[in-house]
Amino acid sequence: MPNTVIAGNWKMNRDSAEAVELARSVKVGLTKVVGAEVVLCPPAIFLIGVRDAVHGSPVKVGAQNMHWEDSGAFTGEISPVMLSGVCDYVILGHSERRQFFGETDKLVNQKVESALQHGLRPIMCVGETLAEREGGQAGSVIERQVRVGLADIIDITGLIVAYEPIWAIGTGRAATPEIAAEIMGGPIRETLRVMFSTVADEVSILYGGSVNPGNVASFMCQDPIHGALVGGASLQADQFVEIVKLAAAAVK
Ligand code: PEP
Repeated sequence: MPNTVIAGNWKMNRDSAEAVELARSVKVGLTKVVGAEVVLCPPAIFLIGVRDAVHGSPVKVGAQNMHWEDSGAFTGEISPVMLSGVCDYVILGHSERRQFFGETDKLVNQKVESALQHGLRPIMCVGETLAEREGGQAGSVIERQVRVGLADIIDITGLIVAYEPIWAIGTGRAATPEIAAEIMGGPIRETLRVMFSTVADEVSILYGGSVNPGNVASFMCQDPIHGALVGGASLQADQFVEIVKLAAAAVK
């Protein structure tokens, strides 16, 4: 049974003091919570501060992006070698990276492979646009993103996949649990099985897109859903803590 994972994607928000305060509040709020892996993904410049703030607790830290090379002339980039001394997870292929920074499935593939090789746990994001959903292409788009994103990777130990329909991100319009479960138990899980056989069943698949304390339990009730990638609500410690508690309580 894949682990339950709740990850908070802070995106480009908070200043240094606020980041540490938010991390401390999450740590304090979750002292007695078991049953879910909790990951905070602050902006890269705050990774060390957040790591130190959650030290001594089960709360883990992840980056929001990385380059695939170990080092080199890549101004402004951060390498897996740099991250692996600081955090355990890295979000890759988020739709905002694909949309605003031109990341392709192939590029995501290079990053995922590199993260795994460096012992980082990639949270690989996939998701369709509204036009693709309305055009009946959601399943084929997701299948392609998983297939190309994981092409030629031999060992996927540690991989996490997040299904984040683009129309549900930051819109307050979450997918229904049924829509999410259909994609997660269908094109995502099936493609993983075709590519990786039984190992595929160890991969946690998260839902992301306007998750909040009011809807997280309805997603967690669905068998194919093992957690959530949370954007906006992860910026409020009380909301994020509540989401984790509700998800942990709903573990099947
Ligand atoms: C995200 O950006 O990963 C996300 C899920 O955002 P939100 O929860 O705000 O929709």
